[in-house]
Amino acid sequence: MAYADFHRRSLEDRDAFWAEQARLVDWHVPPARICDADQPPFVRWFAGGQTNLCHNAVDRHLAERADQPALIYVSTETQQERTYTFRELHHEVQRMAAVLQSLGVGRGDRVLVYMPMTAEATFAMLACARLGAIHSVVFGGFASVSLASRIEDFTPKAVVSADAGSRGGKVLAYKPLLDEAIRLSAHKPQAVLLVDRGLASMEKVAGRDHDWATLADRHAQAQVPCAWLDATDVSYTIYTSGTTGKPKGVQRDVGGYAVALAASMKHIFMGEAGGTFFSTSDIGWVVGHSYIVYGPLIAGMATIMYEGLPIRPDAGIWWSLVEKYKVTGMFSAPTAVRVLKKQDPAFLKKHDLSSLKALFLAGEPLDEPTARWISDGLGVPIIDNYWQTESGWPILTIANGVEKKASKFGSPGVPMYGYDVRLVHEGTGEELTEPGQKGVVVIEGPTPPGFMQTVWRDDARYVQTYWSSIPGRQVYSTFDWGIRDADGYFYILGRTDDVINVAGHRLGTREIEESISSHPNVAEVAVVGVADPLKGQVAMAFAVPKDASALTDDAARLKLEGEVMKLVDQQLGSVARPARVRFVTLLPKTRSGKLLRRAIQAVCEGRDAGDLTTIEDPAALQQIRDLVQR
Ligand code: AMP
Repeated sequence: MAYADFHRRSLEDRDAFWAEQARLVDWHVPPARICDADQPPFVRWFAGGQTNLCHNAVDRHLAERADQPALIYVSTETQQERTYTFRELHHEVQRMAAVLQSLGVGRGDRVLVYMPMTAEATFAMLACARLGAIHSVVFGGFASVSLASRIEDFTPKAVVSADAGSRGGKVLAYKPLLDEAIRLSAHKPQAVLLVDRGLASMEKVAGRDHDWATLADRHAQAQVPCAWLDATDVSYTIYTSGTTGKPKGVQRDVGGYAVALAASMKHIFMGEAGGTFFSTSDIGWVVGHSYIVYGPLIAGMATIMYEGLPIRPDAGIWWSLVEKYKVTGMFSAPTAVRVLKKQDPAFLKKHDLSSLKALFLAGEPLDEPTARWISDGLGVPIIDNYWQTESGWPILTIANGVEKKASKFGSPGVPMYGYDVRLVHEGTGEELTEPGQKGVVVIEGPTPPGFMQTVWRDDARYVQTYWSSIPGRQVYSTFDWGIRDADGYFYILGRTDDVINVAGHRLGTREIEESISSHPNVAEVAVVGVADPLKGQVAMAFAVPKDASALTDDAARLKLEGEVMKLVDQQLGSVARPARVRFVTLLPKTRSGKLLRRAIQAVCEGRDAGDLTTIEDPAALQQIRDLVQR
């Protein structure tokens, strides 16, 4: 079928289109209504239907593929490698569900998962889905202050965690960070379940902390049926950064998400039951939720969960896994490819990659040299896809499962079925229809299945943040700039807000600024994202010290810089650490006191700072220019 017709039908004959897609998953009770958009911008997909994500990911495959690999766990950090068949996964998930039940977790309860890439993390997510408990996975790279704000907002009844993660052979203890986060949070979880990997010692809090292995033994043969949930029930939240210091809980449903993933695995990722999918992301990110855990399993595929670096023990590790497990589809990020690009290209040629049909890349702009390098090296199509934590699955890409079409370098592709994507003028809201016009990428409601339902416990914030930024119209703003060419292909040109993208990880500059400001010798700070050849962007901080009298030489400045970086590491985690912290006597602001972040960014990137008629004191920008040029 021609993709253009497929897309048109998804918008013009919405109910019929999605009713058809809904047949890709099992329903306990079929939906009574397909798309209920009576209260825009909120959408209730498949209302009246009852289903379960864990049933669709695990149980329903038992009849046909119980002994086929489901979860392939590989850690080059702990040298573990184990394949769980669908039957074994079913067993493990029931055991975890029984353990969570024994800790008081039931339908509608909240479970926060703060875990490294371990098989138990996947069991925990699926067990929550099975019970109808709502999970919120927090990326293991986040430290205590980031974790505390999520605990406080999500108010989990239980937390699942581990002694430690490991990265490049370096052990990172999780338990002390978790303890500190719980201490900082006004909300206290009633139970903490701990997986002891034997990497770091743990001090247990009596009455609150429980050992996974001990409880798992007690529930070794547990049978816990799937709870039949309403399609519109909440499956999980995942926190993402925005322009304020407070992260938003992106909330997703059950039925819409199941259908969206099943459809995307077929139409976009060309996944077939019996194949193997390898997504190199982390379960702490949305890609990990959709395309390590739920998507591939719903499609009846084996999924590889890999803990480790792409270059350890050597830069061939991923490709050796592709060969060994006959990976059919792979998903990664441009940053990771740029890391590999610095290694010996021979590693790409050492393994038999004939099983691989395509490599999907997402999370940040894919530059042409990176795309060409990996495309030449692998000899398979490289498919860029653009989406957000909020969308849960691709917004722009090429749906090769519907109609094979060439990608264009620099463009993630065209709007996916279900998405009515437009470009509008930032100031007037006017729609831009001519090729090459630059505007804000927006989505006209109703948003498709799988898209966020709302901001956790804050409908007003959902409407205010996402649906009210374009004058005169209620459309969802992606906060990305884009243009469209004459063939309808989109090009993404960067964020319209203060969100930055470091190695595919989304960070709010406000959060980093708040952390740096808590240093006793920092009066004020500005953080901007600056272009970086490896990571896409890095955070750069400019701080005004409260007392500059001691900062007389480079050694003193470096010492304070080191202290600030350590503080960010401790509070937010090393993902948020700025590449540099420079000290200035004042920051460039408008006369009304607004920080001129875009001007700072331009100066750091050696570009023209633009219109500076509103600047309070041009000397502030000159200081930054001098520092950068030095
Ligand atoms: P996150 O929610 O962390 O996945 O970040 C989403 C943001 O990453 C988007 O709003 C874009 O700014 C950027 N992004 C994601 N995928 C792409 C892509 N394929 N090309 C360009 N930018 C992307």
